[in-house]
Amino acid sequence: MGDLNTFPLSYKVQGKRIVIIGGGEEALNKVRLVTKTTATVVIISQHIEIDFSAFVVEVFVRAFVAADLDNAALVFVAEESADAEAAKAAARAQNIPLNVVDVPSECDFYTPSIIDRAPLTVAISTEGDAPVLARLVRARIEAMLSPRIGKIAKLAGGLRQKVESLIHEGAARRRFYEALVTSPEVEAAELRGEGEAAASALLDQHVVGRQGQGVVWLIGAGPGSEDLLTLRSQRLLQEADVIVHDQLVPSAVVQMGRRDAEQIDVGKAKGHHSFSQAQINTLIVRLALEGKKVARLKSGDPMIFGRAGEEIAALRKAGIGYQIVPGVSAALAAAADTATPVTLRKVSSGFVMATAHGADDSDLAHWASLAQSGLTLALYMGKSIASEVATRLIGQGAAATLPVGVVVNAGRANKSFYRGTLGALSSEVLELADGPAIIFVGEAVAAGDWADAATIAAQGFKVA
Ligand code: SAH
Repeated sequence: MGDLNTFPLSYKVQGKRIVIIGGGEEALNKVRLVTKTTATVVIISQHIEIDFSAFVVEVFVRAFVAADLDNAALVFVAEESADAEAAKAAARAQNIPLNVVDVPSECDFYTPSIIDRAPLTVAISTEGDAPVLARLVRARIEAMLSPRIGKIAKLAGGLRQKVESLIHEGAARRRFYEALVTSPEVEAAELRGEGEAAASALLDQHVVGRQGQGVVWLIGAGPGSEDLLTLRSQRLLQEADVIVHDQLVPSAVVQMGRRDAEQIDVGKAKGHHSFSQAQINTLIVRLALEGKKVARLKSGDPMIFGRAGEEIAALRKAGIGYQIVPGVSAALAAAADTATPVTLRKVSSGFVMATAHGADDSDLAHWASLAQSGLTLALYMGKSIASEVATRLIGQGAAATLPVGVVVNAGRANKSFYRGTLGALSSEVLELADGPAIIFVGEAVAAGDWADAATIAAQGFKVA
């Protein structure tokens, strides 16, 4: 404590000029920064090397004159020249804060790394010692803040008088503002341009003391690695009172939620049998009716083989608000793991996510013809019946020579790969690693990088 040589503050520049002496790369860096403000940005140099037309700035190709600093709030010097020296002297004489690029000893102030969610600003400074660290910290904070948080801060500002007249108790006001700036519903409404109405509705709820309305978020957890969760999913998990998750969602992902959130694993109930879909529907409706914020966390993307349709119908029927957050589906993680372009010019004009589970002959005939025409099939839930499905696809007209690739535990540290042909898969008694699997079928599979894959060979050769 007490070691700062600079003092961070927010300095008013509205209605003033920010003057930059210089016309090169360094001037450009400062232009990027200061054009985030509403100040008039003026660039003066006899050597303009950059095209500044993408910015709202005034550019003067001439010598510096003393009048250039009239009404100036800040001066940046980003070149070495007689003009630069004159500008420095003039700024000092008039006590206008001066920054000389890359010369700390001549600077009155440094420019921080800025996160701009106007009116919310986060400035990160290392007093010039470690700009790289400042950038890293900035990236982390950027990830934590919704892109719309600034708009929501404006909504809060706009409601200030109304809030003061309607909510008299300080703590209650604070609770309202906290709810407003963290509410995913207001954020979603803001995205649709209905932020003001949503904020007012939230205020009404707080005024009549009904703030605890429940909601269900259907969240895609991705294939099972914490860092394949979207930023939005992570933010919602932090808001949830209860996390209702499937067995396929690894605990590391569930742990991304709030520490004190209740966790319910609907894939592994007491006595080892899981909840039925009807029980899950009832559960999420009940929790929301109790006023809880429920994160319904599903593996991959919630809309793909996630029974989301049934859960959404139940929520609609009960009149409960919901939101859906997409996730990285297993087939996409598998494609990434094996560098397989599932669509490929001149080879595969499309990509089909299908389930091998419960498919009838007409489904199989359909997929066989799609695979024959070049489309890539990604089969979900087909691991235990892989060779049977391969046999049936061939029976319906798919070529036994079609390339096949299997990814077990896609997107996870313990992933493993198998490659071969549809023919080999059909005659193989496959022994794959433990974990969920995606089976790719199609010509584009051969374009992937399956170098680390075990071979699926015919005639009973076993792959461990
Ligand atoms: N909604 C999920 C799919 C759920 S169905 C998604 O979009 O990914 C369950 C099936 O998904 C599994 O049988 C398996 O085929 C596939 N799956 C889920 N996670 C997987 C993973 N990490 N690796 C490979 N396949 C996975």
